Amino acid sequence: RANRMFHPEDSIIDVAGRKFGGKKLQVIAGPCSVETQEQVTEIAKDVKAAGATLMRGGAFKPRTSPYSFQGLKEKGLDFLKNARAATGLPIVTEIMSPYMVERFVEDVDLIQVGARNMQNFDLLKELGKTNKPILLKRGLAATIEEWLMAAEYIMSEGNENVILCERGIRTFETYTRNTLDVSAIPAVKRLSHLPVVVDPSHAAGMWWMVEPLAKAAVAVGADGLLIEVHNDPEAAWCDGAQSLKPDRFAKLMGDLRGIANIV
Ligand code: PEP
Ligand code: MN
Repeated sequence: RANRMFHPEDSIIDVAGRKFGGKKLQVIAGPCSVETQEQVTEIAKDVKAAGATLMRGGAFKPRTSPYSFQGLKEKGLDFLKNARAATGLPIVTEIMSPYMVERFVEDVDLIQVGARNMQNFDLLKELGKTNKPILLKRGLAATIEEWLMAAEYIMSEGNENVILCERGIRTFETYTRNTLDVSAIPAVKRLSHLPVVVDPSHAAGMWWMVEPLAKAAVAVGADGLLIEVHNDPEAAWCDGAQSLKPDRFAKLMGDLRGIANIV
């Protein structure tokens, strides 16, 4: 079902009125994790003022170490909802367990499946039984075929509202956190009709590389971007090194307006 052979037209996925895969670039921005109500509301206001069209923030965090901050969980979802009420920006946040599907369907506009859960088939199948838009991140070392087959797990249950997200893959290179696979964007757009979002933040791992990679993503045809923004990156509870400050994010949005159609 993700295959372009059976669906020649590009799919347009509507997320609370924001259309992914249409003519406009959608920009999802916000912190790695939801920390406090003030933090997430303030960042949501900043990214909205800069032109972001959706906001993000992790409430359930898939951390490498079990001793790292795991997210505010349900309280984080409540904080996100309040930030949405304050700004009108739709919410993008990650789900980790099939048990949370009902709550996410109720509260979240675009449900993110993280790289570490790309092949959590039970989770994918449960999400496939809903009609919520799903942002499916590419696995840490997943091939394009595996990634598209993960989309198929959601779609084969009936939910065709899948947006793919390239966020960098593991290679031998250690300078960057991951290697942004720029070639994956034209590849999946040829193989599939699904929209593709690029996350330069988790690919780079360094804030100063986010801007050039975001521009590269737009140049190769990305339908959207996912960018981590924090109002105090040095004090961020997670992924501060790759987070843009709001003013740098605003500058990036200004640059993107020269090469992409935003809002
Ligand atoms: C995230 O978006 O904060 C995240 C954990 O991303 P990924 O699953 O791509 O590592
Ligand atoms: Mn992160």
